[in-house]
Amino acid sequence: MPATSVQPASRQIFVTTALPYANGNFHIGHIMEYIQADVWVRAQRMQGHEVHFVCADDAHGAPIMIAAEQAGITPAQFVANIASGRKPCLDGFHIAFDNWHSTDGAENHVLAQQIYRDLRDAGLIATKTIEQFFDPEKSMFLPDRFIKGECPKCGAQDQYGDSCEACGAVYVPTDLKNPRSALSGATPVLKKSEHYFFKLSDPRCIDYLEKWTHESGRLQPEVLNKIKEWFAKDEHGQGGLSDWDISRDAPYFGIEIPDAPGKYFYVWLDAPIGYLASLKNHLDKIGVDYEAYINNPAVEQYHFIGKDITYFHTLFWPAMLHFSGRKTPNAVFVHGFLTVSGQKMSKSRGTGLDPLKYLKLGMNPEWLRYYLAAKLNGRNEDVDFNPEDFMARVNSDLVGKYINIASRAAGFISKRLGEKLGAISDDGLALLSLLQAQMEPVAQMYNERDCAKALREVMLLADRVNEYVDLNKPWELAKQEGKEARLHDVCSTCIEAFRMLSLMLKPVMPDLAAQVERFLNIEPMRFQAGLPLLGAGHPIAEYKHLMQRVDTPLLDALFEA
Ligand SMILES: [Zn+2]
Repeated sequence: MPATSVQPASRQIFVTTALPYANGNFHIGHIMEYIQADVWVRAQRMQGHEVHFVCADDAHGAPIMIAAEQAGITPAQFVANIASGRKPCLDGFHIAFDNWHSTDGAENHVLAQQIYRDLRDAGLIATKTIEQFFDPEKSMFLPDRFIKGECPKCGAQDQYGDSCEACGAVYVPTDLKNPRSALSGATPVLKKSEHYFFKLSDPRCIDYLEKWTHESGRLQPEVLNKIKEWFAKDEHGQGGLSDWDISRDAPYFGIEIPDAPGKYFYVWLDAPIGYLASLKNHLDKIGVDYEAYINNPAVEQYHFIGKDITYFHTLFWPAMLHFSGRKTPNAVFVHGFLTVSGQKMSKSRGTGLDPLKYLKLGMNPEWLRYYLAAKLNGRNEDVDFNPEDFMARVNSDLVGKYINIASRAAGFISKRLGEKLGAISDDGLALLSLLQAQMEPVAQMYNERDCAKALREVMLLADRVNEYVDLNKPWELAKQEGKEARLHDVCSTCIEAFRMLSLMLKPVMPDLAAQVERFLNIEPMRFQAGLPLLGAGHPIAEYKHLMQRVDTPLLDALFEA
């Protein structure tokens, strides 16, 4: 048996995914991120580490307040309705968060206000009077997205207050020609208001973040390169990090700013604090002291996010945590967007790949987990879902190469060989030691979030096992007189190999792994140094087919408009 290096002692790890905005159901982009994080979390647990994996609904902000008003319900009820649909979808894809909370939860109100006070005490909060569009009919300041007008650059009609969809120009709402409120149609008026700012341009913040972002292991190299552009100033000394407007005026669905009547935190201030609030809510439920846990320097903190929210998570968030006297994330893991057949997601049409429809059609969630994992390499790159490629990978790799190993060997053991494994001779042992030697490298690939490489490696190993099967032809041995012992030897080798492949696939396909554990009568599989063989005499249960193939009608139904 090859030596494996010593695993570090059990680590304590806190993991989150980005909080979905609670104004709609999950789309496939959310599910991809959750699958990426869930695979990573499962791989950590299979190596003996303790993980708390949490998420929450991002509940605040003007869009939810306005949508709730249009639906004739309170924002809290609106968010609760969306939240009630979360669990079936998460369970459906075997995404096992330990806790799902809401940024409107009591913990988040307390934490957000405390972090704000700490930042204020550190001298990093400033106020400034700004002029903004105000809807005189609705008596409220208008968010950029709720102001429409003509593009100041190209004159295109019906453009939002922040950018033009026709020419791509970026501007401020006061630049729009003939502006109107998207809520009431009224012509907005300019009105002054005092706003609160987080002083990201403070030299302390800049110095700290320059250092933090460059520390080894914090960020992927391609993400760091992008961030360097944000720090850079032009030849006139312009650009670089600027202060962040963190307040909104009532009416607003959010958390009140302490000592500032009528002012609320901008939703993006309290959203990441929701990670800590959900953790606290979870630890309270299981009887673990939150303060002791989060202040323990040994606890590692990781956030999985999409590339569009990098700025918030790699600049604002570590600065907020550090200057309020808190621990910063060990790393932020950024992924790209999901495209479907090369098409980007559209706000109106989605991607055409609806995760809820996928589940409703009864499609196997582990097909999708496998397919997406096979494409995720840990870098900030877009991932494409292609239906033909999906069918090929599931049918030829997963079913054709992997499942087939069990289905070709198990029947003989249960029907002719006493439902027990037999002795394995040298050629079988040589094959198995090849698999054993790859256990630790594969675990390491999962640790680096290079699931694509891990699954390629597993499929190469499955190829080697299939070569062994083709060479030894158990179906022919079964017809020959006096070959019973060799048949037992070959089939036992196949089952032992199948178990090792299943172990290496378990982070990606936990439900299938659980079925394999029942079939093989074994304890939950985990990565361990020097994994022993089950050995001769080990009883196995009757084999039941573990996975169907994808067929074209099912895929057609999924993409049917
Ligand atoms: Zn334009």
